[in-house]
Amino acid sequence: MRVVIVGGGMVGLALARLLRGKGVDPVVLERQSPGSHMPRPFMLGFQGFPALEDAGVYDGLRAAGWDIAPREDGTPVAICVDFIKLIALLGDGVPVAHEEQVVELMRDGDRIVGVVTEGPGGLAEVPADLVAACDGAQSPTREMAGLPATVTELGNGALGFMGPAIIDRSFSMAYLSDGNIIGLLGWPGGSAGWWTIDKLDSETALAPGLDAFKRSFSTLLPEATEAVGALTSIDQVRYSEPRVLTAERWWAPGAVILGDAAHFFGPETGVAAGLGLGDAHALAEAIGQNPDDPDAACASYQLWREPVVRPYESNDPARQPRPEINNEDRPEPERWPPTA
Ligand SMILES: Cc1cc2nc3c(=O)[nH]c(=O)nc-3n(C[C@H](O)[C@H](O)[C@H](O)COP(=O)(O)OP(=O)(O)OC[C@H]3O[C@@H](n4cnc5c(N)ncnc54)[C@H](O)[C@@H]3O)c2cc1C
Repeated sequence: MRVVIVGGGMVGLALARLLRGKGVDPVVLERQSPGSHMPRPFMLGFQGFPALEDAGVYDGLRAAGWDIAPREDGTPVAICVDFIKLIALLGDGVPVAHEEQVVELMRDGDRIVGVVTEGPGGLAEVPADLVAACDGAQSPTREMAGLPATVTELGNGALGFMGPAIIDRSFSMAYLSDGNIIGLLGWPGGSAGWWTIDKLDSETALAPGLDAFKRSFSTLLPEATEAVGALTSIDQVRYSEPRVLTAERWWAPGAVILGDAAHFFGPETGVAAGLGLGDAHALAEAIGQNPDDPDAACASYQLWREPVVRPYESNDPARQPRPEINNEDRPEPERWPPTA
């Protein structure tokens, strides 16, 4: 089967690696140049471990990161690792055509039969029996394939930080009195944290300044004191507005979506990456079992993945109703911006 993978991110590389292990040699098209990922901590959940094992990178990844909550048998619930190390391990030996942006799908009637890519050499057609869209939550390929997705803006915002302190733990998290969360990640290269707050604009969210942020964060999560203490600039703190995404259908004749292109979750779940890797695992297996029939492979993929992914979607805490609480009605340390 001629498979074109749109996107050389985590899921695209995992799919390519798993397919190559089955003797299928896909074309991977990635619009960014090589090495364009920024170093950042990444919490990879257990849902992705079988895919990483089959791809031959699980042991390397555990050696490069820190375990989160190992069980009695030593298996962690997640691994916290530098995203660049994850991409390097998955991409090792996988050919990727960089600076190639898919701008159009080729069609024969209702069937998608390839992509048009734009790169340093201009426009080129790449025929395919199956186009696998691993092109992230915005997924231009999903749009072009006519697979509708629902994006829901969440009712809150989030403050996140990343800093250089090497701390004594890989993970910590607490719920606040209004149901918001505050959390901490540690990995061999530093530490990071997040705190869900009211929806504000970025200027208002950052206006109280670094000292106020450090004070509030370490009061609410004392184990983060060393991590926030090492921050030196408010530029290391970022305000964002989380969204969730769901798509009813994951394939159309000749094209399939997976990873963030197919689903995205709220900040409490920590499952996006693990489920994306599980998608790649299932699709590679389905292609291996239906080497001459892309539609049968896609139907099989959706059949296997729905019972895994849909419960996470419907139970995502981000989708549940939350009581609306005024900032000034919260206990003092939980108020942001602080009022004292
Ligand atoms: C700041 C941040 C922190 C996160 N932390 C975590 C975490 O700790 N744990 C977790 O489980 N999840 C986390 N996530 C989510 C996680 O990053 C994703 O679930 C995961 O990376 C999904 O990978 P993907 O390959 O599906 O998509 P992406 O990583 O978005 O990759 C898509 C790729 O497609 C390429 N592309 C897009 N359009 C085109 C095109 N037209 N042509 C060619 N290439 C194209 C892009 O350049 C990109 O490389 C985080 C996300 C963010 C933004």
